[in-house]
Amino acid sequence: MTEPPVLLCAMCDAPGKNVCSICQTIRYCGKICQTDDWNQVHKHVCKALTRDYPISERPSPSHKRAIYFPENHNKPLFTWLGFKKDGKLDEKDLPGDNEGVQDLAVFGKNDLLGRTLERPIFWAGKFKRDEEESEATSFVGASNRSLLVIDEELSIWWKGPFLAYSPTSDLDTSSLRHLVDILRRDFDCQTNDLYKKNTEGYATVTGVRANCIGDVQIVHRDDFESVDVPKEWISEPSAIQTPIMDLIGIPLIVRQVPHALQWKNRHIKPTTTPPTVGVFLGQADEYMPAESNGIIDILASSSITEQGTVIVIRKDGKPVSPAQLEIMESFCKEKAALAMTELWDRITKVDFEEHWKEAMEKNAGDEDFEGVVSPFDVYDRTPCAQSRLTSIDSGVLQIGSVGPV
Ligand SMILES: [Zn+2]
Ligand SMILES: [Zn+2]
Repeated sequence: MTEPPVLLCAMCDAPGKNVCSICQTIRYCGKICQTDDWNQVHKHVCKALTRDYPISERPSPSHKRAIYFPENHNKPLFTWLGFKKDGKLDEKDLPGDNEGVQDLAVFGKNDLLGRTLERPIFWAGKFKRDEEESEATSFVGASNRSLLVIDEELSIWWKGPFLAYSPTSDLDTSSLRHLVDILRRDFDCQTNDLYKKNTEGYATVTGVRANCIGDVQIVHRDDFESVDVPKEWISEPSAIQTPIMDLIGIPLIVRQVPHALQWKNRHIKPTTTPPTVGVFLGQADEYMPAESNGIIDILASSSITEQGTVIVIRKDGKPVSPAQLEIMESFCKEKAALAMTELWDRITKVDFEEHWKEAMEKNAGDEDFEGVVSPFDVYDRTPCAQSRLTSIDSGVLQIGSVGPV
């Protein structure tokens, strides 16, 4: 016999010691997770489950409780669905405007929590394939209003009515919680990393995605990720100023990336680690109000957590690596601690080079830093730049028929 499974919190990895006293169908580790879920999802369904859809009201043994997301209602609803002997949905039980719904997916896992679902959730909606044998689909209908109480983004993304069900068991409020995590993750994969998909066939530059604490703690991304983004980003203004790097001659462009929906309104564990690199490269004004006495606790600044995930590239289009950014960060952190712009004027490229040398010595043996060149020694390796290097004094180009630059 296998051990009985530990019943976990619906919001995190901790044991779910407490069960919701009203619906009795969802467990939490404690007050914080319960409140997080209540405010986002649970309050919309908790009472409806106990009041209108108790198991004692099951119309027949072949009926299972499902969750219905009407196209035009202000929240998700429970519903009873009948199943035939072969496990197929009995279409006569379909609520409202669900004629013609088809299965879109079967969700067996909540990736956000890294957990296999007790009951796989079937997800059905109205859609048509864009082309024969194509994966791409278009939904039939308008933005789903019942998802609007949970996330505006999900409401816009998912169109038409949807049904979540299991042919073999009842769904309840914890199924809805899993479903919200799953739909959010799907949304983030499709939209939040869109810059990656938009680079196909276009010129790109390599930068670093510095993830905010929520993306690291809740979505389990690395602190720094190497990313290729459209080259045209270098002609756009930086959303966040990077004064210290400007001073030493490595101007950067910092772009904010929307928060992952997956951690929206979730509790983040307190940490002493400064969340992102972006903070130290920029927002000098934030740490330096006019009345500053020169000593400001930059780590305690509330603007740090609000800044979120950023992507950092160089204005000159040369690549930036995670290891370089980490050292740039520690340099800016050290210099920002001077905390007065007058002192900043004394920051030089030489200071950075010294800092670089020390940091590389400190990180010797760490494979992330192996062979990393200083931001001052990075070459622009585009084919165009390579051919430019071959132009000779006589004005005749040695390779190809590339015109003068
Ligand atoms: Zn919890
Ligand atoms: Zn409840």
